[in-house]
Amino acid sequence: MMRNPNSLTFTGFMDGVKRRNKGQTEFHQAVAEWAHDVIPFVNENPHYQDHNLSERMTEPDRVIMFRVTWLDDDGRIRVNKGYRVQQSNAIGPYKGGLRFHPSVSLSVLKFLAFEQVFKNSLTGLPMGGAKGGSNFNPKGKSDGEIMRFCHAFMCELYRHIGPFTDVPAGDIGVGGREISYLFGQYKRLTNQFTGVLTGKGLSFGGSEIRVEATGYGTIYFMEDMLRHQKQDIEGKTCLVSGSGNVAIYATEKLIQHGAKPVTLSDSSGFIHDPDGITKKKLKWVKNLKEVRYGRISEYADEFGCEFYPGQRPWSVPCDLAFPCATQNEVNGEEAATLVKNGCIGVAEGANMGSDNDAIAVFRKAKILYGPPKAANAGGVAVSGLEMAQNSMRMSWTRKELNDHLGEIMKGIHERCVEYGSEKGGYVDYVRGANIAGFKKVADALISFGAV
Ligand code: NDP
Repeated sequence: MMRNPNSLTFTGFMDGVKRRNKGQTEFHQAVAEWAHDVIPFVNENPHYQDHNLSERMTEPDRVIMFRVTWLDDDGRIRVNKGYRVQQSNAIGPYKGGLRFHPSVSLSVLKFLAFEQVFKNSLTGLPMGGAKGGSNFNPKGKSDGEIMRFCHAFMCELYRHIGPFTDVPAGDIGVGGREISYLFGQYKRLTNQFTGVLTGKGLSFGGSEIRVEATGYGTIYFMEDMLRHQKQDIEGKTCLVSGSGNVAIYATEKLIQHGAKPVTLSDSSGFIHDPDGITKKKLKWVKNLKEVRYGRISEYADEFGCEFYPGQRPWSVPCDLAFPCATQNEVNGEEAATLVKNGCIGVAEGANMGSDNDAIAVFRKAKILYGPPKAANAGGVAVSGLEMAQNSMRMSWTRKELNDHLGEIMKGIHERCVEYGSEKGGYVDYVRGANIAGFKKVADALISFGAV
């Protein structure tokens, strides 16, 4: 049979990606994970071969970079970099979070925006993909400095966003306080009250369950994977990394559903509480992280357990693991330790929590592995529902939204099973999520012609 001139090899495709995006290692990593499944799928399906979809999807529609100038408490003028990567609006307005962290670079935001396109597609809601942020470090800044930075950031961002154009949300370093400052400034600059950001406060257009949605959704996804194997989460010992928004609400749902979370972490190390993190202890953590902006090491002093400085929790024996902090926080060696210690499932609250070596270990061991595109899509899904409520000028109840979230996570699970099932009953959720997420965006691009 003649080879289709438009068929690609993984290596040839990745060489092109690396040549066009020099030095952007996180972006290369995210594309490689996707291309590993998508390139063979495209080659096997003539319908998708002739539209140069892989190259179109890996080139952002637009990258906006700008200077953010603000005044610190000592009256000094400070400068940071601001970004918005608008990756694709093929299936809806650009949608994705803002990250404020010193590690933010164009490569990190391009990987996040790329992932976001397929994650949003998987939710079944009409949302495109984007990501933005700044290398601003919120740690140690006063409330006034955070406010002035957010206002300065919005002074440029506001011209590039809108309820039908691009709807940012939170991510690392951007929670309810920052979204409020950003929204206040947008409103002042445009004289418009619209649903231009999600994750807003409940008194000005926010949605119930949005704060909890990513963490809760990650646990719902794990429960869907377990149920598919006729197991459940009750009584399982669980490792959670991070102690921010996603980690806290993943831990809350684990406790509610009878599992036993035993670790939390931050960038200084992790705590191991073999007795289990209880509802009461978690309430203390919420106050520590959401009100006092303190360090997780204080938990060890408060509740009399060990703190392991500079380490990650993956060597603690467990049944289930939930990376919920940041990218590349589980490597191949740590993944092998998890599997050796009897871990039967991993679901990613964080984006790219596991690196590609770790993913290969999980796939080879055939344990349950919920990739970020699928497992942490609950946050953006409820953001989509916040947009719907804003457009309709109404609010749904907490129960209605929690039910919607559960249904959306089930739908994502079903799509992964549809495209990721293998002989013998094993579900390759990475492949399932990659193919299902790709198909919807691909079909839209083909309909548009050469745009
Ligand atoms: P937060 O800022 O609320 O919390 C981040 C947590 O990760 C903190 O505990 C932080 O510790 C820790 N952390 C950050 N960088 C590092 C590092 N280099 N090493 C170790 N720990 C680190 O962010 P979120 O909880 O919102 O986000 C966590 C992850 O979930 C990210 O990957 C994000 O992209 C992803 N995600 C978030 C969604 C959301 O709705 N918020 C939606 C989907 C995915 P410290 O305080 O010491 O920095």
